[in-house]
Amino acid sequence: MASSQSRICKGCWQQMHVPVPLRGPASIPFRLFGIRPSRMNPNTCTICELMFTRVMKARKITVDVSVLFADLRGYTALSRSHSTDSVSSMLDAFYDECATAIWEFDGLLNKTIGDAIMAIFNFPIPHQDHAQRAVLTGREIQRRWHSRRDDLAAELAGLDATELGVGIGIDSGESSFGEFGRSHRDFTAIGTVVSTAARAQSAAQPGEILVTRAVYKRARGEVAESAGREYHLKGFETPVELFPM
Ligand SMILES: [Zn+2]
Repeated sequence: MASSQSRICKGCWQQMHVPVPLRGPASIPFRLFGIRPSRMNPNTCTICELMFTRVMKARKITVDVSVLFADLRGYTALSRSHSTDSVSSMLDAFYDECATAIWEFDGLLNKTIGDAIMAIFNFPIPHQDHAQRAVLTGREIQRRWHSRRDDLAAELAGLDATELGVGIGIDSGESSFGEFGRSHRDFTAIGTVVSTAARAQSAAQPGEILVTRAVYKRARGEVAESAGREYHLKGFETPVELFPM
């Protein structure tokens, strides 16, 4: 992990060309002013979080982003039949693997919602190829979870981790940023892209990644050919075409 940790904030550098030290002796004076690595992406800083908050307060801002949802399937059933400790350590492991994969591709781990996570790409660290990055992150999450769950199953006797698979959904496009909940820190993207990504995730089989046509078109060239299928997603009047990655 150490090698992938940036010494300066990638968000501040790419948005404003200001080097904000995150690690090492140069970061100490910054830390005195509360500027430190963000919890949503340790390669961005708390100024970026503030910027995100300000963007959100403007209410009308829209940003072209990719949104990824990943959900740990079988977790609810498992939590009914096993002790809280063993099951929650499984969830922590899932969050860890997701975070590592997301940060590797400069995404933001925006939210953890029960046994699911939501990630945003292209903000605050901009990347033209954000759709492709989201797809590669999805694959990395699948790969990491596969190797991690077998280790966990061995540790937690009597727990069949092979029943736990990850379903992933991704959509790309213009999204608004809005504020939810009571905490001012609870900011996130809202709109069709977010709900479509969430629905694609719920349509995905364990181990599967389903993306919309917008994602497929943008990531094409980097990902193998895929045939779309129509899905009737909850809350959508017409069928939505999704592509397995
Ligand atoms: Zn920053």
